[in-house]
Amino acid sequence: MFLFIDIHTVKRSRFLSSSLGTIFVWPLSETKSETNMLVFSSRRLLKILSLDFASAMALYPFIIVSHPYLKNHETLIRHEKIHLRQQLELAIVGFYLWYALEFIIRWFRYRNRRQAYENISFEREAYARESDETYLSHRPFWAFLRHL
Ligand SMILES: [Zn+2]
Repeated sequence: MFLFIDIHTVKRSRFLSSSLGTIFVWPLSETKSETNMLVFSSRRLLKILSLDFASAMALYPFIIVSHPYLKNHETLIRHEKIHLRQQLELAIVGFYLWYALEFIIRWFRYRNRRQAYENISFEREAYARESDETYLSHRPFWAFLRHL
């Protein structure tokens, strides 16, 4: 239950009642308040999960950021929301397996961890579209395949 720590308490009742369906079935509605509910900051957890590599991470249905102020970083949050959509499309576990496999293949190819990460298809899509506010509303299914 620690995942619920730091989620805006004001919004919690709404989160539990009206938004559960939206969040867990098909994200992510584009309203700011609903996005906030999914985002929490935990530097320690992020450090463990990303091996101290990332300042934010999508872990369906949550977005974890390293510092509270990053909750308001719109581009970053949009980037992570694209990852949440990708995760749903691959039943979550499939996303992580594919992500890890593609990272290893690209690491072998580029011999550079940063470059390998940036060229994972999920990342290519997220970086290419993170500035597009309406992207998720018209994004085609499995759109990351176009960025392979
Ligand atoms: Zn990313």
